[in-house]
Amino acid sequence: MIIDLRSDTFTKPSPAMLEAMFTAKVGDDVFGEDPTVNELESIAAKMFQMEEAVFCPSGTMTNQIAIKCHTQPGQEIICEKLSHVYIYEGGGIAFNSNCQVKPIEGNRGRITSEEVVEAINPNDIHKASTGLVSLENTANRGGGSCYDFKEIIKIKAICLDNNLPLHLDGARLWNAMVANGENAMQYGEIFDSISICLSKGLGTPVGSLLLGKKDFIKKARRIRKVFGGGMRQAGYLAAAGIYALENNIQRLAQDHQHIKQIAAALVKKDFVGTIMPVETNILIFELKGRFTAKSFEKELAQSGIYTIAISPTQIRMVTHLDVTEKMVSQLISIIETL
Ligand SMILES: *Cc1c(COP(=O)(O)O)cnc(C)c1O
Repeated sequence: MIIDLRSDTFTKPSPAMLEAMFTAKVGDDVFGEDPTVNELESIAAKMFQMEEAVFCPSGTMTNQIAIKCHTQPGQEIICEKLSHVYIYEGGGIAFNSNCQVKPIEGNRGRITSEEVVEAINPNDIHKASTGLVSLENTANRGGGSCYDFKEIIKIKAICLDNNLPLHLDGARLWNAMVANGENAMQYGEIFDSISICLSKGLGTPVGSLLLGKKDFIKKARRIRKVFGGGMRQAGYLAAAGIYALENNIQRLAQDHQHIKQIAAALVKKDFVGTIMPVETNILIFELKGRFTAKSFEKELAQSGIYTIAISPTQIRMVTHLDVTEKMVSQLISIIETL
């Protein structure tokens, strides 16, 4: 039995999801004629009570389109220093938007309104003009940490005072909402743009959505085409997205439960150092003594358990819908023997 905890991107579509894909009605989405893509975009926009949505191949693309739409070349983007938009998108902020980043050293991937205030540049010709604030919820490198919604409201107030757009990288926003009993409309009300992934915890093979106001999404559709993201009969993929939104959100609570059980087994071991607080479906912990992160990764791989060493001392595990209760029990018994 392979237990793949490297990422929640390793899920495969279930038979029911595949059935929804096989039977999708499709058309040419570049011409706006794919009924299933149109349906997915309208379902998502409605959930968030935002005006429109656009379906894209990846979360990197939805983030990068948003950044391109919000900024002018030479501007500065405020985000946490381990943000996906900054460290995991191939230098896209510079490549696509000709902007630079003002990285903030936050707390497990999250920044505060005070830090945002400090990071905004004065109107001084020596400085880049601040063009955007970007938040990530849940924060991947923060170990799936979640924002306190009150802090987001404070950050929004600062953005309004300074005439700055606010973007949300919500690749795992559903995890945060399920963990904290929040709803999509709260987020839709605050953010100028939101990127959500269907291919992480929700389990589709491909796809992300960018949400925003009508004019913003009109511009985003143009940029999507320029970036090469205009897809034709994408309804087959959108059908998986609709299936996921209808069936795979509430079950995320199970993934959160599973990762807590794994953390509880690890905490008893002398080779485990600091474990980051577990809030959603990601677990990041330190190795010490007998194991380095690499040697621990190798040890588990021998039993068919795949994890990722994200630094010389840290391992990351991620639960998702292809990690069953039985797999979690097996992993825990293996941890107990180490
Ligand atoms: C996975 C992820 C994305 C998008 O990644 P793609 O692989 O391009 O879909 C964006 N932000 C965060 C925080 C992520 O974890």
